[in-house]
Amino acid sequence: MAEQAKGNTSGLAGNLFVVSAPSGAGKTSLCKEIVDFFPRLRHSVSYTTRPPRAGEVDGRDYHFVARDAFDRMAAAGRFAEWAEVHGNGYGTAIATLEEARAGGFDLLLEIDCQGAARIKRNYRHGVFIFILPPSIDELRRRLEGRGTDSAEIIARRIDNARGEIQQASWYDYLVVNDDFSRARDELRAIILAEGCRSARVLPSLPAEFGLAESL
Ligand code: 5GP
Repeated sequence: MAEQAKGNTSGLAGNLFVVSAPSGAGKTSLCKEIVDFFPRLRHSVSYTTRPPRAGEVDGRDYHFVARDAFDRMAAAGRFAEWAEVHGNGYGTAIATLEEARAGGFDLLLEIDCQGAARIKRNYRHGVFIFILPPSIDELRRRLEGRGTDSAEIIARRIDNARGEIQQASWYDYLVVNDDFSRARDELRAIILAEGCRSARVLPSLPAEFGLAESL
């Protein structure tokens, strides 16, 4: 397991995993778990105009930038995708994807559905994963349990969640987070399986197997 968990060692460009979920589905905790688990999987650090929350670190959680800097990056075509989410700009820099490609490591993008749809159009090799809550009632319970948002904000998040869930059907994989450990195992399984795709493994096999011509 430990060897496999190192993922793609072939020198090929790594896999690109794109994870979306409505707020409260547990996406951030699940993504943190799997990035910690797979040494060759890195978390893509997005740019955002949203101010940092308590405990967030610039350059680790996000690159926190002013609106004019963000708009300049967008105008200069430096984003692989960007979107407005809850009134703030969020974007994935092309440079982040290029660094992953050059380094041969896998990259995990934790982005909203609009951004994921743009990546799907432009990066065909992406693997798209949607994390679902078990039900709207459970999502409401989780958002209320956080104790951080007013009833009005919770109602808005639930409304947004209903809209986002409609997008789930075009993703490659759906993970229902009713039990954290199971959802974590499912995510690990997806990442391991994608690393075993024949297109990924063939180039790393010994020449004596004579499989080069099938590339
Ligand atoms: P939060 O502000 O709670 O960290 O994130 C709000 C939403 O923005 C989440 O759905 C998150 O996945 C999404 N998001 C974070 N980074 C990006 C990005 O680079 N691009 C897009 N399109 N969405 C992002």
